[in-house]
Amino acid sequence: MGSSGITYAYTIDNEDKIISVSDNWQLFAEENQAAETLLPHMIENKPIWQFIEGPEATHLYANILKNIREHNKSVTIPFRCDSPDKRRYLKLTISPIQHNSIEFVSHLIREETRDTVDFLKFDLPRSNEMITMCCMCNKVKLAENFWVEVEGAIVSLKLFELNTLPKISHGLCNECYVIGMAELQN
Ligand SMILES: [Zn+2]
Repeated sequence: MGSSGITYAYTIDNEDKIISVSDNWQLFAEENQAAETLLPHMIENKPIWQFIEGPEATHLYANILKNIREHNKSVTIPFRCDSPDKRRYLKLTISPIQHNSIEFVSHLIREETRDTVDFLKFDLPRSNEMITMCCMCNKVKLAENFWVEVEGAIVSLKLFELNTLPKISHGLCNECYVIGMAELQN
């Protein structure tokens, strides 16, 4: 379905707790097959830090939020939010609002249909093995400083040979860390 142009938003208060999500958030969560973990009532009143995985992403977001509150200026970063059958390119604008609250607005720029990547389906049994995906560009980590598109990772890691797929954890690749930090200099 053509959802280009759609915007999703949420707001955090001065203590970084999620205080409101846009009306279409539920649809967003369902489209991303995250309905079991990201429904509005499951994220409201929780600190945003519960949903940011890994030291690099935490460090980047901490810097972004500090910068926004100090300088009262918005920051925009590109990111991907792929589903099994779509590459989705978005931009996230993080803006100061009143009383040190901050608004996060994600805007879908475009999406590309692709052959379904079963590995990304949420309802598959998983082993205790773990692979790391970048929360900004959705690339998969193969080695230190070496991240590739998920289709390439499936081949390199021979995931199609496994009976049970590894779990996906999230981190931040070095390239996206640099992009994010550079936005703060503008
Ligand atoms: Zn990345």
